[in-house]
Amino acid sequence: MTSKERLMIRRKNKMVYFLFALDCGDPITPEADDCMKYWADLLAKYGIKGCFVITGATARALVDRGRKDVIKSVSKHEIAYHSDTHSIHPTSAEYLNEMDLNSGINEVIKKEIKGINNLAEIFGQYPVISVQPPGNSPPAVNYAMNLMNIPIIGHSIFTSFNNGLPVWYCNCLNFRYHLFMDSFFSSKGNDAFNKKKEEIDSLCEEKDRGLISAFTHPAAIVAKSHWDLIFKDGKNPPLSEWLVPPLRPKTEVENIKSGLKNLLFYILKKPGIKPVTYKELYNLYKEPADKWFSQDEVITLAKGIGRELTYQKIGKIILSPVEIFSLILYSLAKFKEKKRLPVQIPWRKPMGPTSQLGRLREKIEIDSSIFLDKAIKLNQDINRFHRLPARVNINQIVMGPGDFLLAASKALIAISEKGNPDKRIIIKPAENYPSVIKTIDFSQIEYPRWLFPKNFKGENLIKRARLQSWTVKPVVKSAM
Ligand SMILES: [Zn+2]
Repeated sequence: MTSKERLMIRRKNKMVYFLFALDCGDPITPEADDCMKYWADLLAKYGIKGCFVITGATARALVDRGRKDVIKSVSKHEIAYHSDTHSIHPTSAEYLNEMDLNSGINEVIKKEIKGINNLAEIFGQYPVISVQPPGNSPPAVNYAMNLMNIPIIGHSIFTSFNNGLPVWYCNCLNFRYHLFMDSFFSSKGNDAFNKKKEEIDSLCEEKDRGLISAFTHPAAIVAKSHWDLIFKDGKNPPLSEWLVPPLRPKTEVENIKSGLKNLLFYILKKPGIKPVTYKELYNLYKEPADKWFSQDEVITLAKGIGRELTYQKIGKIILSPVEIFSLILYSLAKFKEKKRLPVQIPWRKPMGPTSQLGRLREKIEIDSSIFLDKAIKLNQDINRFHRLPARVNINQIVMGPGDFLLAASKALIAISEKGNPDKRIIIKPAENYPSVIKTIDFSQIEYPRWLFPKNFKGENLIKRARLQSWTVKPVVKSAM
């Protein structure tokens, strides 16, 4: 390696991508419109594209208030879809908790397609990312947004896994915010403001950071409180009772603006900072559509997943457990049908299981032809239903996908080594949830308590989120 190449790598390693997200969820405060324009013009002046996170209601309110100027300024930036009505009950988390995944996906499409199209018409661009309030996008939102051609999700559940960097989950690229800009707005003196700078410093210095995603509420520049506090504890007051939040005095507004400007310069002056958009990052991480796998690659993946039920890296690609399951099933099914292993295996990306997982209680032994016939059936099911089975039934014995996968990976390795599987296949109880389930991202999924009715726990959402752990994999870091 030449010294120039080494320098290039050092520079590349130091680079930190910076995302600016502007949460424009407040549709009722007319003064907030000017704050959207303020941010849009400020960022544009420095050649930065921010991401304006806008609800259908906010977009329609801008039109209603005749704010062509705001729309024009904001249209120069990236647009994220922030749901149609933000905190009005039932929010997506509330209604999705009462629905199975299929019905939930249908309901999200039904409720959100209008707002998405409002944004596309008003700003002249289709939103590239969905930031579904109130936090923690449930699987139905991920899958529904993907079906509506919005494959990027903000508000992901992943804070610890992959260090809060993007994660593939439910076939969408999931992002998280790292830096909340508003926390110095209401404080007197410079302490809170200086703390913000320190926070930025320590984020930039974190090893392997690579990306900082910052967010702020433009409305908070003028409004003393959030517009949606009236929906606290599940309350749904009629429109006539909605109140514009109390406004800050002019001097306070000017102080906040100059503080924000100061922070923006501080960030931009830091070495290695590179402002970026969600779309640019998506293009960087996007996986090749034409990739098929060789049998050697699938054997390597089978060996890896046999050691631990988790995502596996092969070359520059990372595969989730559900993708590896599909590759192994296809190989076994084609072996049974054609008496030889396939040379090329397609990359399929089904959903994770959608109902309660089966579980094998004790070891069983079955004839290999029965096992391979089951592989043919499951492979057809993946093609037809595009999801991993939650339960596999062989000779009236119910097992989970992990139980079947462990035996399937061993059978495939035996075929590649000996030309045939063992006559009798042993299926042992195995893990049925991938290892990522042990991270706090899955053990501590929370929904903002202040907004929901007091008894809301989101228990079905949490169960469904855990089932989709089969689809989790980090982005390939070398792409950053
Ligand atoms: Zn919001």
